[in-house]
Amino acid sequence: MKIDYDVTIVGAGPAGSTTAKFLAEKGFKTLLLDKEKFPRDKPCGGGLPIRVLQRFPYVVNDTIIEAYTSSGTVYSPSLQHQIEIFKETPIIATILRKKFDFELVKFAKDAGAVFQDGSSVSAVHLSDDIAQVTIDQGATISSEIIVGADGVTSPIAKHFELRRARTSMGICILQEFEVDEQIMDQYFKKSRHCYIHSRFKTVAGYGWVFPKKRHLNIGFGIIQVDKPQQQKLNILHCYQEYLTLLKEKDLIPKNLKEEPVKGGALLTHPLEKTYLNRLLLVGDAAGFVNPLSGEGIYYAMASGRIAAQVITEALEKEQPTEEVLAQYQIRWQKDFGRDIDLILRVVKRGSMEYAEKVFSIACKDPVLTDLMMGVITGQISVQQYKWKIIRRFFYSSLRNRLHLLK
Ligand SMILES: Cc1cc2nc3c(=O)[nH]c(=O)nc-3n(C[C@H](O)[C@H](O)[C@H](O)COP(=O)(O)OP(=O)(O)OC[C@H]3O[C@@H](n4cnc5c(N)ncnc54)[C@H](O)[C@@H]3O)c2cc1C
Repeated sequence: MKIDYDVTIVGAGPAGSTTAKFLAEKGFKTLLLDKEKFPRDKPCGGGLPIRVLQRFPYVVNDTIIEAYTSSGTVYSPSLQHQIEIFKETPIIATILRKKFDFELVKFAKDAGAVFQDGSSVSAVHLSDDIAQVTIDQGATISSEIIVGADGVTSPIAKHFELRRARTSMGICILQEFEVDEQIMDQYFKKSRHCYIHSRFKTVAGYGWVFPKKRHLNIGFGIIQVDKPQQQKLNILHCYQEYLTLLKEKDLIPKNLKEEPVKGGALLTHPLEKTYLNRLLLVGDAAGFVNPLSGEGIYYAMASGRIAAQVITEALEKEQPTEEVLAQYQIRWQKDFGRDIDLILRVVKRGSMEYAEKVFSIACKDPVLTDLMMGVITGQISVQQYKWKIIRRFFYSSLRNRLHLLK
């Protein structure tokens, strides 16, 4: 049977275009498809963990990175405690998704991938000797392997029953305002001071203010939806109260031009299985999101890179089988899966009272503050630092108690 491409990737977000770039660089005939016409926007805070820049240094340029944030304030649920951080080096970078995703597609094209936008995949067929996608109920394209990078709703994951019909999802909404650069400097300084309100209105999630160069991204997310009380909350109402609070405290300019409220869903944990014979799932399609912060760009790109490595090996051996592709699951678990697991366990156990206590202790200890900020901004691996964090937390709480006894 005629093979059109070695690999067809469905979805050109960060996961799909990263997979495409690394496969094309290896010389594989790679097709990258997206149903949208590019450049397209995607609702997103646009906060980019620094480890994206460390692992994928090719994104470090002024066209892609809007601004670097080197200071921030994180508020406890009651707003009584604050963790302040002021650094010489960035704690987070910011991007505009419309531009960022388009630039990533260009990297894939420059590496030799064929990009076809405005092409919605309506069917996927896998057999022992071929993998096929049908575009817009019309043309069929054959390849050795298909990568499902089709985002949080992933029709591919659902079609192959890799995802249950009723999977719990987080939800985030946001507005992105265009603001004069001088006003941005006045409010957020050159350090582009960011704000995070942890568990605002008791919600198991947070509110954020990400100042970019000339854009201000304000959002609100309910990420840990497994907690039953969260399901009844009206997120739009919470967001409006959040905006009111920010204005009352003069943390943001009062006269922001009206912008549409956009939103999106998040899977709250990775799928149990992310591969099949001739198929891999990457990024949001596989549920790779930080369960504490909801950030997913790092995992999207990291999973794309790992997928490209495993596919390279499978194609070189001429064995795009389930057995060989199972390596993908082993590698992402080792790479970032254990981190997600650990955060998930902590988040599930955490309560409002506990969060408040952690803040009350951390805000008096700069070392613990740094570690916590590292976790929140995705700068450090929780798995790697867990004992350091636990030891420091106990040391700090003991010191606090002794101080109180004096
Ligand atoms: C409101 C909100 C705020 C967020 N903020 C942040 C943040 O600040 N930082 C961060 O790191 N993460 C954030 N995230 C998470 C982040 O947006 C995702 O993790 C990331 O976009 C995942 O990339 P992806 O490539 O897997 O999927 P996507 O970026 O969603 O790309 C999937 C692509 O697949 C295409 N597609 C879907 N179906 C088909 C089809 N049938 N045929 C062809 N193409 C198809 C879509 O058009 C889309 O372009 C946020 C999420 C939300 C909802």
